[in-house]
Amino acid sequence: MLSKSQYVRGLQCHKSLWFIKNKPELRQIASEDMAFIDTGYSVGDLACNLFPGGIGIEFDKEDFQGMVSKTAELIESGADVIYEATFKENGIFAMADILVRNGATWNIYEVKASTKVKEYHLNDVAVQWYAISNAINVSKAHIIHLNKRYARQGELDVNELFHIEDITEDVLKRQAEIPQRIDYMEQMLKSEEPTAKIGVHCNDPFACDFKKQCWQDVPTHSVFKLYRLDKEKQFEWYHQGIRTYEDAIDKKRLNRIQTIQVQTVQTGLPIVNKEVIDGFIQGLSYPLYFFDFETFMEAIPRFDGQKPYMQMPFQYSLHVLHENGELEHYEYLGDENSDPRRELVIRMLNELGTEGSIIAYYQNFEISRIEELARDFPEYAEDLLALIPRFSDLIVPFRKLGYYHPNFHGSFSIKSVLPSMFPNDPELDYKKLAIQHGGMAMDTFANLHRLQDPTKRELIRQDLLAYCHLDTLAMVRIYQKLLDLIKVA
Ligand code: SF4
Repeated sequence: MLSKSQYVRGLQCHKSLWFIKNKPELRQIASEDMAFIDTGYSVGDLACNLFPGGIGIEFDKEDFQGMVSKTAELIESGADVIYEATFKENGIFAMADILVRNGATWNIYEVKASTKVKEYHLNDVAVQWYAISNAINVSKAHIIHLNKRYARQGELDVNELFHIEDITEDVLKRQAEIPQRIDYMEQMLKSEEPTAKIGVHCNDPFACDFKKQCWQDVPTHSVFKLYRLDKEKQFEWYHQGIRTYEDAIDKKRLNRIQTIQVQTVQTGLPIVNKEVIDGFIQGLSYPLYFFDFETFMEAIPRFDGQKPYMQMPFQYSLHVLHENGELEHYEYLGDENSDPRRELVIRMLNELGTEGSIIAYYQNFEISRIEELARDFPEYAEDLLALIPRFSDLIVPFRKLGYYHPNFHGSFSIKSVLPSMFPNDPELDYKKLAIQHGGMAMDTFANLHRLQDPTKRELIRQDLLAYCHLDTLAMVRIYQKLLDLIKVA
């Protein structure tokens, strides 16, 4: 018997299904996936309010049959709405998020914490339909997903927050292929560990949790790290035996950045182009404002004006470097229980002044957030938009190959550049921090308001401050290193 999620997993990769059934202990779940699963549950609970008055089937991993029997009893007794209605039919174990009686038939509603219907959602509901329609008459299937245009004002309006999409036609079209697919999966599961080539499917629609097994032979300097090499091409080359940087430079035409990437690994030495670095530095004017936002996103908006998965700036760090070498630091971290944006805008406008370059690393992110703040707080729009022409992007001298280090591995992100330029510098080591990347900061702040213990909350706030502080200190140190590089004779 397959669960519907196992069926969907099997469609992504039969070997992944074999692993989950036969060697589940090898599975590795990323913490981001856990956050996503949590989000899925809370969105699912909220969507039940679209069909109030239903009866829920309690999940009991020790007694699936009990869940199935309880569902059958509810259907028999005339219930109109059942949450987590459970069926074991046609070789599939399926739970429908919401099952709604529609005269003599039933409608299926599957809740997804996304903002649109995705291909794998259709397969998910198709196999549900295949199982459930063996027990009861089903007439319609729907996906309930979040409406990304909904901006909360006051009480949450679930009818506006969610969008219900009828996918019956798509689901019906997929019915004919399902029995064969289930047969194939069941036979495969009875056999020895199957073979499967690694491919684009290892990350689509989900990052596979068995990559540690299948990707263990991929060399450190593999074609998967070649700068901006098209995904399809990466696997095409890999399966042709062109696996390493050396293979690629011998047999394929690489672009300029990819060629330098390979050559620096071969020599073990970085390359410096002073002209490029100087060109960037000449474009800056003091005082230099090294600036970085952190944002959080939530599926369910908590504050007025917030939309599902909207990027909400909640924190910034700002290092100001004066021409005389003096360095000042400013920071802001919003309250986790209220919308932090207005206070953040007032503070940043005050601290960023009116002249001097604002330096960000990948400035598009900061500029986009400023444009959104200008839209949402029109009273500050003029001052906010006046910041944008002052921006300079510290990634530019790296992208233009002013400096390339073999340890960049084709990435110009600050998390690659910093440790390559400052190896073993404890002041600049993200690994020493409790929060080590933007995704962690995002999830941490989004969940902070749930934490009851004020002492723990304060400690976490200190971790957030330390993380964002390092983001801008890193930029200062990188800038100073670039200055040193052009000074060297
Ligand atoms: S890593 Fe790729 S090939 Fe291996 S099981 Fe996962 S999806 Fe399949």
